[in-house]
Amino acid sequence: MRIMLLGAPGAGKGTQAKILSEKYNIPHISTGDIFRYNIKNETELGKKAKEYIEKGLLVPDELTVKIVEERLKEDDCRSGFILDGFPRTIPQAEELDRILLQRGTGIDIVVNIFVKDEEIVQRLSGRRVCLKCGRNYHVKYNPAASEGKCGECGGRIVQRDDDKEETVIERLKTYHRQTEPLIDYYEKKGLLYTVEGKEKIEDTTGEVLRTVEEAAQKHGI
Ligand code: AMP
Repeated sequence: MRIMLLGAPGAGKGTQAKILSEKYNIPHISTGDIFRYNIKNETELGKKAKEYIEKGLLVPDELTVKIVEERLKEDDCRSGFILDGFPRTIPQAEELDRILLQRGTGIDIVVNIFVKDEEIVQRLSGRRVCLKCGRNYHVKYNPAASEGKCGECGGRIVQRDDDKEETVIERLKTYHRQTEPLIDYYEKKGLLYTVEGKEKIEDTTGEVLRTVEEAAQKHGI
């Protein structure tokens, strides 16, 4: 199954993508994670991406598309994948169509997780992430059992630099300006399913799984 998750930053795409990835045994591809990995390892890509990410802006399309194109060539993507945080612009979506079409495939289902802006700001400012495995936590909604330590891998849990309030506001503006038009783009293709991002992760997961199963049946996947 080739699934795409859409939604504002902090809507819960990463968390849901990890759950779907385990359930369907398909890789979770997060461009944000790829950029953070490169920033941590101080690669050329990381240096370029950092300039934009710090400001709450998008990394240029050309750079981002190249990374995804390479990642999708890997063997583990043959039976499907979950895209989280890509595409984020119309040109990226068009490039993705081109890449998949070359292989005679396309996206099967787009799940848009909707959360109001006010709630996004609250969620992101309380979000924490494991430095080692990338698992997300929230100081209020989803705290780690042992403070500052990941329950999955024992890694250190920190606040992402771009989750600081002023950057969050920029990221939201960027989302509305550049990413939200994708909702229309996929709606027109008949691939879009919107679920409401709930306060409790398991409630959102229930909705997401139900939607994916229904869509898969409808499209005969
Ligand atoms: P995320 O973890 O998905 O919120 O991504 C963190 C940051 O990485 C974003 O705020 C962007 O600056 C950058 N980024 C991630 N995915 C993309 C993308 N598809 N296009 C451009 N920039 C991206």
